[in-house]
Amino acid sequence: MDGEPRLVKTSPPTTRVTTSVCLAANYLRAGGVVALPTETVYGLGADAMNAKAVRAIFRAKGRPSDNPLIVHLTDMALVDRVARRIPASAEKLMAAFFPGPLTVIVPNHRDLPLEVTAGLDTVGIRCPGHPVAAAFLTACGTPVAAPSANRSGRPSPTSWSAVVEEMDGRIPCILKGGAARVGLESTVVDCTTARPLVLRQGGVTVEALREVIPSIRLVSAATSGDEPARSPGMKYRHYAPKPTVVLVENAAEIPKHRSGVRWGFIGCTDEGIRAKPDRACLVPEVPTYAQKLFHFFRVCERAGVQVIYCQKVPERGLGRALMDRLQRAASDHPTHSAT
Ligand code: AMP
Ligand code: MG
Repeated sequence: MDGEPRLVKTSPPTTRVTTSVCLAANYLRAGGVVALPTETVYGLGADAMNAKAVRAIFRAKGRPSDNPLIVHLTDMALVDRVARRIPASAEKLMAAFFPGPLTVIVPNHRDLPLEVTAGLDTVGIRCPGHPVAAAFLTACGTPVAAPSANRSGRPSPTSWSAVVEEMDGRIPCILKGGAARVGLESTVVDCTTARPLVLRQGGVTVEALREVIPSIRLVSAATSGDEPARSPGMKYRHYAPKPTVVLVENAAEIPKHRSGVRWGFIGCTDEGIRAKPDRACLVPEVPTYAQKLFHFFRVCERAGVQVIYCQKVPERGLGRALMDRLQRAASDHPTHSAT
């Protein structure tokens, strides 16, 4: 015994975990915040037309109020309630990639609460390609504003149990589904400019987008100084687990650790590794790496790992989105000192 008082849970958790789409939709229609499975990561949804309900999302996440939310819908008739107009580029991308891991940014409808768009004159729209998400959105019958279901700055949850870790007692209901298929967030494309701009890399690759709109630009290649203002979420600390994250080209770079230091490794090959990690995740290729990354971060946290070594991947296809998340999670990323 170390003399510390023991933590005793005095009240049962207040969050209901369910597989019932109807029950979850009832919570949402009554103004509650509901976590839902999608193919990218789990989301934290509320009625997008109800400002009070949307404010509850920001409270549950501890999310800065200047970071806008993506509106989710399956019934395309609801688009007119949230968007003022749909530019031709957005129409093309929606036809090609909805339902799927893509968000298009379009001019917002005046009736959409300011809380959703963080005061911007645009709104992000996504139609998820997950059957439980689709059934839930249909049962809700309203556009659903939903960021990822993590506390702000933390890795996104890719399973319902990860949502419980993040949100137990903070929201009324979690709708259960399986593990997220993609494991990384949606690709966000701003369609309000003549040449659409990728604001966030994600589940739809740039190569696939360019097959539909060859002139599409990437935010890092853009020269205009107003880009950070157009993509408010990207300036914040993101995806960071408690252990230190270090990126390596290959496992041979991992230094020898003092005994007692717990460390983990995730990558496509452990060739050249000099010792056995406390936790390891070897993946056959990039899509599996993407699917498992945030889950592995949580496995390492629970195991008391202090350093996670992540092998870099080539920046093409889904590898671009994966490298973006790895770099933001890495402990030497500039945003880590910002919040
Ligand atoms: P999250 O859903 O938490 O993974 O984050 C949603 C991302 O989409 C954040 O990076 C937001 O800044 C971005 N986003 C949402 N709506 C807009 C918008 N209207 N304009 C620009 N970026 C947006
Ligand atoms: Mg997020």
